[in-house]
Amino acid sequence: MCTYCGDATIYAREYEGVSFCGKCFRHTIEERVRKTATTYQMLEYNDHVAVAVSGGKDSLTLLNLLVKLEKRFPKSRITAISVDEGIDGYRDEALELAKTACEKLGVEQTVVSYRELFGITTDEIAEMRLGQTPCAYCGVFRRKAINKAADMVGATKIATAHNLDDEVQTILLNMLHGDPLRIVRSSPVLRDPRGRFLTRIKPLCEIPEKEIVLYAYLTGLEFQSVACPHGSEALRNDIRSFLNQMEQKHPGTKFTLNRTAERLRELLAAAAPISHLNECEKCGDPTPHRLCEACTMLQTIAA
Ligand code: SF4
Ligand code: ZN
Ligand code: ZN
Repeated sequence: MCTYCGDATIYAREYEGVSFCGKCFRHTIEERVRKTATTYQMLEYNDHVAVAVSGGKDSLTLLNLLVKLEKRFPKSRITAISVDEGIDGYRDEALELAKTACEKLGVEQTVVSYRELFGITTDEIAEMRLGQTPCAYCGVFRRKAINKAADMVGATKIATAHNLDDEVQTILLNMLHGDPLRIVRSSPVLRDPRGRFLTRIKPLCEIPEKEIVLYAYLTGLEFQSVACPHGSEALRNDIRSFLNQMEQKHPGTKFTLNRTAERLRELLAAAAPISHLNECEKCGDPTPHRLCEACTMLQTIAA
């Protein structure tokens, strides 16, 4: 029985010891996203938010939730940014779903492609067998493509659909890669005090992935369910299974890890402030090195 209204239960949230009917479940997700946005001061009344929309469950949920939130701020605006990485038989369907969702919600959409921005596609990178998985390149280029598109449309902020699972997986990945300072740059809100890059926000960072799937299903969102043919991040997959096992045995593990990262960020921010990042010698983007990751990768590809 739903803890809040007594209707039939559809979901038991173990980490809080409560049960939900469909209506109360959707309400709790919307409220949590609103609370995350308020706690981290993610949105301002006159923001133009560029929302990265791939056509997957996370990004379509984010778009729906932000459109709802935005109705409270008549001076704000949303533009969906979709990136075509050039992955045959995969990306086209997702882009179509993203387009339909934007039309339904009355949101403008801008599509940019790796081909036009970088002169190469993810399929072509995969064929080159460069030593790292195509995801390593694809992820870095996506970030850059979203930045460029957000600049093009004149956005004031970029919203991405990283969920709680993505966040805690990334925290452990950074630790296993021996790169703890990167944890500072993966905070729920990333602002550059020197104003060199657009503020990035992650309004879904406190929602577990399985709750996003349920929310998307209950909201009737049509999202892409087939997996990318290049998706083979072995280490991340191992971390995902480990965290899911831990969560099952010890409900709340993911939230605890996320809170630990928050504390680490406060401590590490003093050691590696965002304002101390250099400007990439090629493109001007902030980077802890001489060249940003995307420019370094483009050089490797060209070599
Ligand atoms: Fe790109 Fe990897 Fe994601 Fe496929 S799974 S879209 S290659 S990052
Ligand atoms: Zn209820
Ligand atoms: Zn660069």
